[in-house]
Amino acid sequence: MNRRLPLMLKELSECYRSKAFEPLAVTEQTLARAKNLKELNAFIRTTPTKALHQAEQSVQRYKQGKPVSILDGAPIAVKDNFCTKDIHTTCASRMLQNFVPPYNATVYDRLERSGAILIGKTNMDQFGMGSGTVDSIFGATKNFWSESLRGTDFRIAGGSSGGSAVAVASGVCFAALGSDTGGSTRNPASYCGVVGFKPTYGLLSRHGLVPLVNSMDVPGILTRTVDDCAAVFNAIAGPDQHDSTTVKKPFDAILVSEVDRISLKGLKVGIPVEYHCDGISGEVLSTWSKVADMLEDAGATVKAVSLPYTSASISVYSILNQCEASSNMSRYDGIEYGHRSDENSSTEQLYARTRAEGFTAVVKNRILAGNFFLLRKNYDTYFQKALKVRRLIANDFDRAFREVDILLTPTTLSDAPLYEEFTKSHNRDQCAVQDFCTQSANMGGIPAISIPIKLSEKKLPISLQLMGPSFSEKALFDVAKWIEAQVQFVECYLDR
Ligand code: GLN
Repeated sequence: MNRRLPLMLKELSECYRSKAFEPLAVTEQTLARAKNLKELNAFIRTTPTKALHQAEQSVQRYKQGKPVSILDGAPIAVKDNFCTKDIHTTCASRMLQNFVPPYNATVYDRLERSGAILIGKTNMDQFGMGSGTVDSIFGATKNFWSESLRGTDFRIAGGSSGGSAVAVASGVCFAALGSDTGGSTRNPASYCGVVGFKPTYGLLSRHGLVPLVNSMDVPGILTRTVDDCAAVFNAIAGPDQHDSTTVKKPFDAILVSEVDRISLKGLKVGIPVEYHCDGISGEVLSTWSKVADMLEDAGATVKAVSLPYTSASISVYSILNQCEASSNMSRYDGIEYGHRSDENSSTEQLYARTRAEGFTAVVKNRILAGNFFLLRKNYDTYFQKALKVRRLIANDFDRAFREVDILLTPTTLSDAPLYEEFTKSHNRDQCAVQDFCTQSANMGGIPAISIPIKLSEKKLPISLQLMGPSFSEKALFDVAKWIEAQVQFVECYLDR
């Protein structure tokens, strides 16, 4: 698989300005590349008509010397759970297979206004429930780094935003939107060797993002570099009148420091002892300690910290996820939009058949479990208690961030599993392993970023995660960029 040497967003826009090449030609090449790499199954659908139209407009803007932003003319992809006006938004589900929204999600709308070019909508686990991009009515997405793509012989892309991660890793797009409820942006970023960022809850609007767990969902960003990630974040962050949970304070664009200006002296880095868990691979462990040493050598203080409620985290996440998900799924009843069963001789039958046909076992499982936890007799024992422990988990972070500025952890416990291996276990068990290091940031509402570090012995990406207190995005980006410059993961792409 040949890979065009990727430019960064800044270089791309400079090339456009200097007329080295034009957005239209780049868009045509990008669409052709997406077609050539169809086997990876990153896209549910590409949007060539829209892309070419947007590219022509971008050409005009550059001709007039008036590009709207650094993203003007940049090919991007959007996970198929963000509403895109007049373009199918399926959530990879039968239920929404024919759903065409009449409006744009705010984050996509802002990308469009920034001049970005939509190449297509990306594959995912249905409704975001998963961590492999293996449970889609359009089939699994294949990891770009797989040794083989034959049959079921490939590596999973991670999920649920696996299509977005592969669209970026394979050099088709410069950036992609994912969503992150428990790790769905960071997990595939980790397996695919790209940067995956989940911001502080409320900094990115959820308007038009099909909800899974409203209290944890955030749009996520996938790019090849930290600078690109910050550029996309700056274009889309800030208050939104359509989402009352967005932070009201106007958003000040983040200026990531030049790498030689980033000093780690005085930085306090915490290593949560509870993240040394069962099942973590030797290679991930050694990568984790090597990067910790690297930070220490550069002047940071690295120390062990404790997040005592980590052991309860997966269970609490799972209960709350299923409660909120079951409530969210109740809107799909065959009446207003989405799939409608032909067997509809009574309203009751219409509901029942529509939901029986439109949802898979994974979704039905979450609905049943969520409704069980929410029954009056179970409400206090499960839902209320889970909410209380969620607070304790958030308190763990608050306490840790009184001692340290930032936490360094693995993102995933290993490199990308083989599809066959991964799909042997049930969705619930997959998530328990895959979300181990990621879901607590969603429960605490804090920002986190996954950065690719190196290739494993099997030549698959290994990544680490940084987490910081709410609104510490600038610090996270700076430290991530420093690490990125040290490890030079980008060179691993040269051999692909
Ligand atoms: N694996 C998690 C889940 O299925 C992650 C979901 C997400 O972040 N969208 O709940």
